[in-house]
Amino acid sequence: MMANSDNNRRKFMATTLQSVGLTALGGLLWSGYSHEVKASPLVLRPPGAIKEDDFLSACIKCGLCAEACQNRETNIDKETGKAREGTLIMAKGGDAKLIGTPYFIPTQVPCFMCEDIPCVPVCPSGALDFASLANEKQALDINKARMGLAVVHKESCIAFWGIQCDACYRACPLLDEAITLEYTQNERTGKHAYLLPVVHDNICTGCGLCEQACVTEKPAIFVLPREVSMGRAGDHYVKGWDKKDQERVKDAKSQETTTEISKESAADYLNSGGEY
Ligand code: SF4
Ligand code: SF4
Ligand code: SF4
Repeated sequence: MMANSDNNRRKFMATTLQSVGLTALGGLLWSGYSHEVKASPLVLRPPGAIKEDDFLSACIKCGLCAEACQNRETNIDKETGKAREGTLIMAKGGDAKLIGTPYFIPTQVPCFMCEDIPCVPVCPSGALDFASLANEKQALDINKARMGLAVVHKESCIAFWGIQCDACYRACPLLDEAITLEYTQNERTGKHAYLLPVVHDNICTGCGLCEQACVTEKPAIFVLPREVSMGRAGDHYVKGWDKKDQERVKDAKSQETTTEISKESAADYLNSGGEY
């Protein structure tokens, strides 16, 4: 009788330890996964997506955007009458993106910048923000999308080698606006001309059609999230020729939190050799 109750106790302890172990392991795996997801800033989201951190908590992973993208009118193959592969992918385990959230890979299927943007109005959570794409008439305008920004890698773009290529320029739906070709001459020979692709960050939507069209083995033009591809000069730099810019800096100064007194004491401290 005694041996039986000892056995039961041992079994109970073993099961409890197993569950605690599994819970801890689950916790560890989940924290590792969330870290991996947060540490992957290179994801491209659908048009109208809000800031990545907010997007991750707002998106309810319903997949309606991807479904609307898959079923969009322009995605139906005229010859077969069947829908082609859609742009938006719902992340699965191993994609290094939060599972169930939509993203796209331009080299596979770029965003075709649908005029009616069917992926946005179906979003029930606000993760895709209708207002950010609305024009003055409150109609959706795909040109306002900022999914990312195309960047040209000069060393691998063959136009910079003097070889004539305008594949990205031709593929851009905002032809001669988001990408322009800038004419320049080879300084060494003074004869050979270059036509170089230049992306304009105030117009590029990040659709990725240029990246898909690029002729090099690995695209020499590629789309990155804007916060990754854009630099930031900093508020203390002033455009000397621009009066408005000087006003901006004056405003910033009046909001400065460091007082003159604290600046003085910092200077005194340094002059005194730090013996306070
Ligand atoms: S705008 Fe782009 S992501 Fe949206 S439905 Fe069209 S192709 Fe898909
Ligand atoms: S429709 Fe909105 S909430 Fe649903 S998966 Fe797409 S972004 Fe997320
Ligand atoms: S991503 Fe490329 S194709 Fe799309 S708007 Fe920008 S420059 Fe044009």
